[in-house]
Amino acid sequence: MIRWASGVRAPPGEYAPLGAYEFAVRALSALEPFNPTVTSWWRPGNVNVRAGGQRYSRHLWGLAMDFRSRDRSPSEIRSMVGALMRAGLWAQYEPELRDRFGRVTRYAHVHAQDRPGVRE
Ligand SMILES: [Zn+2]
Repeated sequence: MIRWASGVRAPPGEYAPLGAYEFAVRALSALEPFNPTVTSWWRPGNVNVRAGGQRYSRHLWGLAMDFRSRDRSPSEIRSMVGALMRAGLWAQYEPELRDRFGRVTRYAHVHAQDRPGVRE
């Protein structure tokens, strides 16, 4: 079963020709055995900035998706990354980040995108 965290956005229809939905089907199919929780998919520019995303994030195009990892063991996280890579996508584990006050600015997650290159 696939779960969706609250606030996850699907890309608007005009992004569909760029393959956002094909990307999502591929990522979700690869991870379905893990019962993943999607925490982020498409991000409009202002949300991407708030989320600490890279300037040229694939999330801006709906071509990246994040999955919750806090309830996963390291080996399970490696298996999830491997499953995404075998599906022809590019994925990696993104560890938690904190600011200088110790506040969490990014929760740990598995990030997947359609091609190698700029992360987030
Ligand atoms: Zn991401």
